[in-house]
Amino acid sequence: MKNIMLDVVKKRIFKTIEKHKLVEEGDKIFIALSGGKDSATALFAMKEYMEKNSVNCELKAFHINFCLPISEKVQKVVEEQAKLAEVKMETVYVKDLGIDLEEIRKKSSRPICSICGVIKRYLMNKIPREKGASKLATGHNMDDFLVFFFKNFLNKNFEWISKFRPLLKGTHPKLLTKIRPLFYVGNKECELFCREKGIGYIEEDVCPHTYFNCVIDPKRKKWYEILYKIESFHKDFRYQMVKSIASYARFLKYEESKLLECKICSELTSQEICGFCKLVRKNENK
Ligand code: AMP
Ligand code: ZN
Repeated sequence: MKNIMLDVVKKRIFKTIEKHKLVEEGDKIFIALSGGKDSATALFAMKEYMEKNSVNCELKAFHINFCLPISEKVQKVVEEQAKLAEVKMETVYVKDLGIDLEEIRKKSSRPICSICGVIKRYLMNKIPREKGASKLATGHNMDDFLVFFFKNFLNKNFEWISKFRPLLKGTHPKLLTKIRPLFYVGNKECELFCREKGIGYIEEDVCPHTYFNCVIDPKRKKWYEILYKIESFHKDFRYQMVKSIASYARFLKYEESKLLECKICSELTSQEICGFCKLVRKNENK
């Protein structure tokens, strides 16, 4: 019985990869590993897909180590996942880039989650690109996309809906193509995948930065609960919902907002100086 469910999950991921051409001959894909169940599922499912279909491409694990007391534990888990999947691993230690999260947190009024977010997005695009990646895979899953959808829709941010797809092509040479193999599987499915395959992971209820007493976005958790509640009386609610929104998004033209090059680091930004440089290089005070 359990294996049937595992097959359903795998089939959905494989179909997403196939249909949206997430993985192609000659690709060099960096999979961003957080230590959690989602990115681990993406790693193992992509590896299996490549082997099963004899796709000649390179898969590499990529991890950003925030150099906090908890980071050593996360690093161990991520390294074990990469070893089990038999893929090479690349780690960037933020301290080596002169980033001290504790210092930045003291100087910035931004919440710590937002600081981490800016650093992660910046490094996940820059480092793999500089190391020759053709695509960056992340472990964002179906439930995350539904929550993003509701939040953006409620804020009338309709432009965002055009990005509601498993593959986001880089629209600029400095912008890596992003792939989301878990677009049609959610938290429940990834938990099952890791459990059945015996893959260890960090429980995500706790943010890797518990050091700062920060629990993973409590609002996001509430949203998950609501989605699963609806699903308890409407079978396949999440899957149907994602499929419908994705069908609708195909009518919308995907355009990246106007991109400039940061005056300090030359990475892409919508302003003169990018969010990363404001935080890290200028020690923004507000
Ligand atoms: P989050 O924003 O924490 O929900 O994470 C979304 C995705 O970003 C994860 O599924 C990973 O693919 C990636 N990610 C998160 N944290 C890290 C990290 N420290 N290093 C590399 N990738 C990460
Ligand atoms: Zn910059």
